[in-house]
Amino acid sequence: MLTPSSYIAGRWIGPSAYAARVENPVTGEPIALAGSEGIDFGVALSWANGTGGPALRATNVHDRARMVKAVALMLKERKEELYALNPLTGATRKDGWIDIEGGIMTALTMASKARREMPDGEIYLDGPVEQLSRAGTFLGRHVAVPMRGVAVQINAFNFPVWGMLEKLAPALLAGMPVIVKPATQTCYLTEAAFRMIVESGILPDGAVQLVVGRTDDLLDRLGPQDAVSFTGSAATALALRSNPRLLAAGTRFIAEQDSLNAAVLGPDAVPGTPEFDLFLNEAAAEMTVKAGQKCTAIRRMIVPEAVVEHVIDGLSERLDRVRIGDPSDPETRMGPLVSMAHKADVTARSAQIASEARRVFRHAGAPCEGAFIAPELYLSDDPDAARAIHETEAFGPVATILPARDLAHAAQLANRGGGSLVSSLFTHDPAVARAYVTEAGAWHGRIYISDRDSAGEATGHGSPLPHMIHGGPGRAGGGEELGGVRGILHYMTRVAVQGSPAILSHVTQEHHAGSAVRECPSHPFRQDFDTLEVGQGIETRFRTVTLDDIEHFAAFTGDMFYAHMDADAAKANPFFPGRVAHGYLILSFAAGLFVDPAPGPVLANTGLNNLRFLKPVSPGDAIRVQLVVKRKTRRTGGYGEIAWAATVTNQHNEPVAEYELLTMVARAG
Ligand code: NAP
Repeated sequence: MLTPSSYIAGRWIGPSAYAARVENPVTGEPIALAGSEGIDFGVALSWANGTGGPALRATNVHDRARMVKAVALMLKERKEELYALNPLTGATRKDGWIDIEGGIMTALTMASKARREMPDGEIYLDGPVEQLSRAGTFLGRHVAVPMRGVAVQINAFNFPVWGMLEKLAPALLAGMPVIVKPATQTCYLTEAAFRMIVESGILPDGAVQLVVGRTDDLLDRLGPQDAVSFTGSAATALALRSNPRLLAAGTRFIAEQDSLNAAVLGPDAVPGTPEFDLFLNEAAAEMTVKAGQKCTAIRRMIVPEAVVEHVIDGLSERLDRVRIGDPSDPETRMGPLVSMAHKADVTARSAQIASEARRVFRHAGAPCEGAFIAPELYLSDDPDAARAIHETEAFGPVATILPARDLAHAAQLANRGGGSLVSSLFTHDPAVARAYVTEAGAWHGRIYISDRDSAGEATGHGSPLPHMIHGGPGRAGGGEELGGVRGILHYMTRVAVQGSPAILSHVTQEHHAGSAVRECPSHPFRQDFDTLEVGQGIETRFRTVTLDDIEHFAAFTGDMFYAHMDADAAKANPFFPGRVAHGYLILSFAAGLFVDPAPGPVLANTGLNNLRFLKPVSPGDAIRVQLVVKRKTRRTGGYGEIAWAATVTNQHNEPVAEYELLTMVARAG
């Protein structure tokens, strides 16, 4: 018997005599005891707030990204221990791959995106500088800082590892301690992964805690700086988000709920096209992977009326081939549902669907015992009049075919789900894709468009990706998770900071135009990454741009654009007084002015951002450059990235070009 334990304030607390019994979905035998009796949730919150929060906030985003990456790599090393428990949840090895390795990859990607897209500091800068005054002495900046409370993360049973990691990684990256509450039915697998994290010692004390079993009065103790992130059924979400304490305190509540996801077969995707086959393959896979217990699974298949019979035939044939049985058998394609209780639930919901749709397929090979269930396909004769098929989520291998008159009707039917996590569209016609996104986009968190061009590499209808938001409007919970930095911001507070350039530079650790520039003690190219300070800079000498320079540059590069070569034509152009220097000539001369050529700490120029040419440079004008350390970001290896604010001015001190120059610079030592 497994005895998964809670982990509270640095102590493991095992199940008591009153703990619930978790059964094996194949045999019905009890396999685990799960209960949270004896937990003092006040102690859990104090430990998170008093120990975990300060420890996490003592590190910066990049430090925490390194921790999350280390956790993910450690779990990867030990993944076979997790796979050993996976069949007990009813999942095949392939199902487990989505959960275990999918969860690890999600954490790795989130950590990597945090390091690439967030500053190497405590404060996230959200968007550009807002100039709030004419002379530029009063600026505004949106920044985000970690919330000062605890993230309570309540997960569904179907992805015990992914579910934990996809929420845990963003919260830790933000700098918020977490209390994880897995679904009881599969908590032993979550606990095994969680125990590995604690044993690794990678995270600071108080950063993570685990509740196996009920949360009792935990939510009643939360306040305005806490967040609840919930995944599960709409009914539970409604009950939890209605908690008077959460409402009174304005506690952030993120919900990922069930959803009636729809796959739409485009009017062009007739039998014989690659898109028709892609639709059938995807639909059959979505029904049977994890025995249909995926929040993103296709519940409604919306197809043109003319091809309904072809769809039924193609799907029946594919579903018939699915081998159902013991999930630990490598030949098995579909295991049982997670529990007998869940089987009863799915059976009852199928009956609701059957009240307004005809069953057109039922798999004959599902074992009768345990929590096994046969995949079932229904056909609705009147999808406009139907209600249950748009509202009832049978969280198993059950789907309904809905005939549509045309694309607009298909979009209307897809939207009848009241808000979904994902809708897919199978089309090779860009006009169909555009029309569908316009008509249906407001109702779905993600639109997956499949065709022959992307099929080889596409990740599938059902896969939430860490790069893209996961969530959906309305019925799907109105929440969002993942989506790179967007997912991390759910655990941070955005604050609009206003002040002078000098104040904002210090607050954000990023140089803002208008704040004083301190002269570098020597040429900046002679200083290593660690010695350079934000706000240090140099101003170069002047260089005069001649007509010869312009003609030479034109001949050398082949850029003979008339504004550089033809005085009359240039003058007729509303932007130029006559012949002017190429913008790229100005950039090249600028580099010639600020570069210190000998080998040194500057290793490479890796790009430039936000280039603007502000004023033309005419023959006879003189230019010079101001180069200021704008931002520093440590990178792996012995170097870091310096972003320089480069401003090119003319002899009248007017800016002619501005950009952010990126260089890799060696670290000290
Ligand atoms: P559920 O019954 O709603 O339970 C979800 C979680 O809430 C579980 O951890 C459950 O714990 C907990 N919970 C239930 N009552 C609670 C209470 N009073 N206080 C605190 N926690 C409570 O859902 P499920 O059966 O686990 O999962 C299936 C559903 O989740 C499906 O409807 C599916 O569509 C949805 N889902 C959605 C997503 C998504 O990303 N949108 C992902 C996966 C699943 P116990 O297990 O201990 O009751």
